[in-house]
Amino acid sequence: MSQVLDILQVGDPILRKICVPVTTIDDELLNFLADMKETLKQGGIGLAAPQVGRAIQLVTIDIPLDDISTTYICINGERKRLADIMPFDFINPEITPYGPKAYFTEGCLSIQDVYERIRRRSKIRGTFTLLDGTSINLECNGLLARCIQHECDHLKGILFTDRIGQDPD
Ligand code: ZN
Repeated sequence: MSQVLDILQVGDPILRKICVPVTTIDDELLNFLADMKETLKQGGIGLAAPQVGRAIQLVTIDIPLDDISTTYICINGERKRLADIMPFDFINPEITPYGPKAYFTEGCLSIQDVYERIRRRSKIRGTFTLLDGTSINLECNGLLARCIQHECDHLKGILFTDRIGQDPD
């Protein structure tokens, strides 16, 4: 049975670790992911493994299907809809943000009651390894691109509050 995990809060040193790539996809990892997904169901659109205590490059994202900001999703050259790919679980991402810079108000399960406008690139492209071991090329915009950037920051020990007032590259 999946269980809801405790979410580490800002100040915990694990949130500042550079996460290591996942090298083995085994039952233990999949059980941990199931627990992460159960935890995310309590509220939120994305959760990275370090937020629940493990400094590994594992993320689960679940954007509501009624989100209208994500108008472009392309996987391996094929157009997709949110419903095709949610929930989106992946390991070992390599992303490049691009496109116009935009502000969006972000929050984080590890920083309760703080919501701040953060400026990021509005699109990303990157490669992601799925939990069946296959890799995909993904390009997207909107809330999905925003959430992916936020979660990939977690894998580098970066919190969204570090980016207040920053201009993206
Ligand atoms: Zn977060």
